[in-house]
Amino acid sequence: MIERIVAPPLGANAYLILDEKKALVDVGGDFGFIHRAISKYIDVKDLDYIVLTHTHFDHASATKDLREVSGAEVLVHEKEYEFAKLQNFSSFTFGINFPPFEADRLLNEGDEIDLGRLKLKIIHTPGHTPGSICLYEKDERIMFTGDTVFPNGGFGRVDLPGGNPPLMIESLKRLTEFDIEIMYPGHDEPVNSANEHVKISLKFARMFL
Ligand SMILES: [Zn+2]
Repeated sequence: MIERIVAPPLGANAYLILDEKKALVDVGGDFGFIHRAISKYIDVKDLDYIVLTHTHFDHASATKDLREVSGAEVLVHEKEYEFAKLQNFSSFTFGINFPPFEADRLLNEGDEIDLGRLKLKIIHTPGHTPGSICLYEKDERIMFTGDTVFPNGGFGRVDLPGGNPPLMIESLKRLTEFDIEIMYPGHDEPVNSANEHVKISLKFARMFL
């Protein structure tokens, strides 16, 4: 029901969720690759939603092409979309093409994406970028965490444009309040007993930020 796709160019995780509605959480930076990867599971035209945890190029620069070809709606946090436009859809890396994309729905804290069985709640977790989000499914106790928190005490960089160390600590603290069994991070492998991982990330962030 949840397929992990490791997407070029930097190995960001995209997650294809196959529920009554089909959603892709992050798309990576290579349209041809993600198109082929999704096609193994569904007709790309059946994709309903593209949900972006944030707009760094390694997670999001294939968005415009995938939106056009699939007809899927692009969902992104309001502040993140603003940030992407302000940054002029910068790739931070010379030579990577990041075509500007249109958003179809701007997300805010507490909003819900209803996929049928799974209902993803938007948790606004700024720190890595201004509009980074995590997506929480409370019955399944799963969370998609983008580049906010990684397994084994990891957390996202705060030294890129839009990064904010105090907000990162605040966001990690908030995440410790959720009951999470499985974490689906934006890089690295999904893990069980995610609560413990998040606690260690908060501890490390307080030590190092
Ligand atoms: Zn990032």
